[in-house]
Amino acid sequence: MTVDLDAVAENWRALARHAEGAVCAAVVKADAYGLGASEVGPALSRAGCRAFFVACPGEGIALRQALAEAPAEIFVLDGHVEGETERYDRHALTPVLGTLEGVSIWSRHARDRGGRRAALMLDTGMTRLGLGGGDAGLLAAEPRRLEGLELCCVMSHLACADTPDHPLNARQRTAFGDMRAGLPAAPASLANSAGIFLGPDFRYDLVRPGAALYGLSVVSGRPNGMKRAVRLRARILQTRFVDSETPVGYGADRLIAAGSTLATIAMGYADGLPRALGDRGSGRIAGRPVPLVGRVSMDLATIDVTGIAPDLVRPGRTVDLIDDRHDADALAAEAGTIGYEILARVGARVRRIYRGGMNGSSE
Ligand SMILES: *Cc1c(COP(=O)(O)O)cnc(C)c1O
Repeated sequence: MTVDLDAVAENWRALARHAEGAVCAAVVKADAYGLGASEVGPALSRAGCRAFFVACPGEGIALRQALAEAPAEIFVLDGHVEGETERYDRHALTPVLGTLEGVSIWSRHARDRGGRRAALMLDTGMTRLGLGGGDAGLLAAEPRRLEGLELCCVMSHLACADTPDHPLNARQRTAFGDMRAGLPAAPASLANSAGIFLGPDFRYDLVRPGAALYGLSVVSGRPNGMKRAVRLRARILQTRFVDSETPVGYGADRLIAAGSTLATIAMGYADGLPRALGDRGSGRIAGRPVPLVGRVSMDLATIDVTGIAPDLVRPGRTVDLIDDRHDADALAAEAGTIGYEILARVGARVRRIYRGGMNGSSE
């Protein structure tokens, strides 16, 4: 997997310009959607990003270490603080509190320690994480519950931002306004990547792009304006000419015609190549599509390279699974999933190679 850190930084700058007037944060959960948070985080920090979102404290700790002394607020989205307050403190993490229990624990901790920063997550219609209307009303009626807390962000998350005409977008925006009205004034945040493109009304004080930073397409039916940041290649281990019809792979349910050339590649579902791509997906060699044939194994898959110049399919050569023309979204479409899942599942044993990231110069 080759990660273009300059492309990620450029995408961040483009989103920051687009959301002008709002702080542009970066969502780097799930190891920066599989790209590697310990490389992506510092690259974004050098580009000027000062606010990061991770999923859990463990990710926050790793990011804090990677960012070293760089100024950064690290928000932990799962907001679970019970039994974790010392870890939050030691690594200067800010919880995104989404339950009254969490608010109570963090507020008590904050009072003991002379104050702590916190973000609040409101549920405005996604029904996932966050304080519902009743809970938010209780906080509004009893502000003592927030004592000791410096509210640095009140946020919510859009369920349908990738579908601009979806009526839930406006409903969530209205609910967000209503719920915030009773709470102490604090910077507000509603937009993920797609939310940024719903218009200025959705941007508030801080935007939280993830997918768009990594070059994924975020608004359905609209061309992807982001720079592609990922290339995924697999090595060819073995090539064979099929001189009589033969099955290939587990289950032996795919027959290969005589006269075909097959190549076995060193990538399987343990590397994040979806098993659903068996007999459906494709790679590219020198820009030419090569179909995956037979089932995807744990460590291996097979491609039909009939008609490709022998020199390009020798063992040691590579096949592109993700490149600029056949990007993560295209591979995802073949597998019946979304680009987010393809990137986030690229396995730990896939070597990450980083390009750029040092103010434009190559590493
Ligand atoms: C993952 C996530 C984001 C980023 O969403 P993208 O669609 O990748 O931009 C923003 N906010 C919250 C709360 C999230 O969980």
